[in-house]
Amino acid sequence: MVPSVRCPLFQGIHELSIAESIADSVRQHAALRGGRRVRRIGVRVGDTSGVNAEALDFCFAIVVRGTDLEGAALDLERVPVRFRCEACGHEFEPAEFDPRCPACGVERGRLSGGDELSLAYLELDDEEPGRPGETTG
Ligand SMILES: [Zn+2]
Repeated sequence: MVPSVRCPLFQGIHELSIAESIADSVRQHAALRGGRRVRRIGVRVGDTSGVNAEALDFCFAIVVRGTDLEGAALDLERVPVRFRCEACGHEFEPAEFDPRCPACGVERGRLSGGDELSLAYLELDDEEPGRPGETTG
């Protein structure tokens, strides 16, 4: 869905297109939940995704300015690199990309996380516009 290519020359533009993708999928999710106003957006950013969290935060503010998403807070959650041992299945956070498994000592760690860039959660307003008088409970 979101490209995970690194582009050192155009990093700002890279984050800008990612910010647009995030805004798009947030709108789709919000529409599915009755078009309620979005308060907070949680996004997981993996350590090896090549995304600069600060630049993404900055670009997102630009992308949503003057739109229905203006004012929504962007919560960037850093996801550390994770390895899974091919020998015993143990998952661990490697130090300096050291593939040695802390459980069994075999050097068979493979990247299993930390390269993701995904929506973690959405926090929406409680009020549902356009549906007055609907009873709950
Ligand atoms: Zn192991």
